[in-house]
Amino acid sequence: PAPSSTGGRGDAPKVEDDKIDPAQAIAEASMINKALHSRLVQLKETSQLEVQQNDPNSPLFSVKSFEELRLAPELLKGVYCMGFNAPSKIQETALPLLLVNPPKNMIAQSQSGTGKTAAFVLTMLSRVDPKAKYPQALCLAPTYELALQIGKVAQDMGKFIDGMKIRYAVRGQTENITKGRILTEQIVIGTPGTTLDWCHKFNVINMKQIKVFVLDEADVMIATQGHQDQSIRIKKKLPPTCQMMLFSATYEETVMKFALKIISDPVTIRLKREEESLDNIKQYYVLCSTREEKFEALSNIYGVLSIGQAIIFCQTKATARWLAEKMEADGHAVAMLVGDLHIDQRVSVLKRFKEGKEKLLVTTNLMARGIDIEQVTMVINFDLPVDLSGEPDFETYLHRIGRTGRFGKAGLAINFIDGPRTMKKLQRIEQHFGRKIERLLTDDADEME
Ligand code: ADP
Repeated sequence: PAPSSTGGRGDAPKVEDDKIDPAQAIAEASMINKALHSRLVQLKETSQLEVQQNDPNSPLFSVKSFEELRLAPELLKGVYCMGFNAPSKIQETALPLLLVNPPKNMIAQSQSGTGKTAAFVLTMLSRVDPKAKYPQALCLAPTYELALQIGKVAQDMGKFIDGMKIRYAVRGQTENITKGRILTEQIVIGTPGTTLDWCHKFNVINMKQIKVFVLDEADVMIATQGHQDQSIRIKKKLPPTCQMMLFSATYEETVMKFALKIISDPVTIRLKREEESLDNIKQYYVLCSTREEKFEALSNIYGVLSIGQAIIFCQTKATARWLAEKMEADGHAVAMLVGDLHIDQRVSVLKRFKEGKEKLLVTTNLMARGIDIEQVTMVINFDLPVDLSGEPDFETYLHRIGRTGRFGKAGLAINFIDGPRTMKKLQRIEQHFGRKIERLLTDDADEME
């Protein structure tokens, strides 16, 4: 049967949320992840750290405590005051390398929430002289908000260090500087454009006195036009003795190419992301012909199964809205994440969902991309993930479904199929992953259980 006009939206590669600029979406996902990670992310026992350094003879240390790093007492106090008891996985290896003399350059990659920011903030704080009143550490971040976030960490961790000051080189701040007058703050955190202006046009930073240079969120950085060039121009002004480090949440060729342009002779540290796999996940499909039927099937599933946290993915914002309303009318507490919410609102939606205040999150693919929401028991593809040409999007499928079945728990994924064309796409997904997707009869309670 042909999909009726009221339903069958799964076939339309329409993405309303995509009016958002992709670079902005990436930066926002990064902000949201930061806001969601008020603690270190839980890593698998088996997660592995890869270290590459040019000099194979130089020994690798790893520390199990902050004491072993021989930090200044004020800094150590700041670290403990933040509630950090021991270094995180990446910090164990990165910190001894970052604090050693002569300083080493570093490229480090690990997912959001693993302690990268804390690691480079600690390095900046330990390397600058609070008694010297000029910039000695320079840190670049892709957005205003991310720069302020880093500054907050530095403020917090450095609060017992007498005279330590931070300055933000971000939009709106240029009016507060005087051309040619060197800043008195030891740490400058800024976006590439404004920072370049400050050291190039306004001469308020003596680049020869910079001892530590950090480029954070390199993957977000390269998504924005111009940031690469600006960063490279800033880097070129730094003295060869300056310690340089670059951090990224993802590891792609484009990021690495950029990283190697910025950081010469680096030690590279990489904490591999836990592989997303479909091993632990039971995958099903449900045959429907309209979106109303999909909704009924969903209600039946909820009537029969006891479900913890679930995420439902829709192709368009309009479907997400429609579905959220229907589910609410059905008595569910529903959280909804779509593009027209302000970033703070999105963070608060996700926080509530993480805390379990709502058990059901309805979203579009675009909104959920790149955001870490761990540990859900069920994922529903109300619409199958397709790319802009309407082809099945395997990577997104894996990423969506991979949200369930984490940490060895069994997960459940259900795909709603609204016609033969969608069924073909599902079959291609099945073939691609070599995993059977079974049919689920949602009007048969016995079968579902
Ligand atoms: P990333 O930069 O990789 O996203 P962060 O440095 O922001 O990670 O750390 C993520 C969260 O974990 C933050 O809330 C931070 O305060 C906390 N954190 C970082 N290092 C430690 C540590 N050693 N012990 C406990 N919490 C930590």
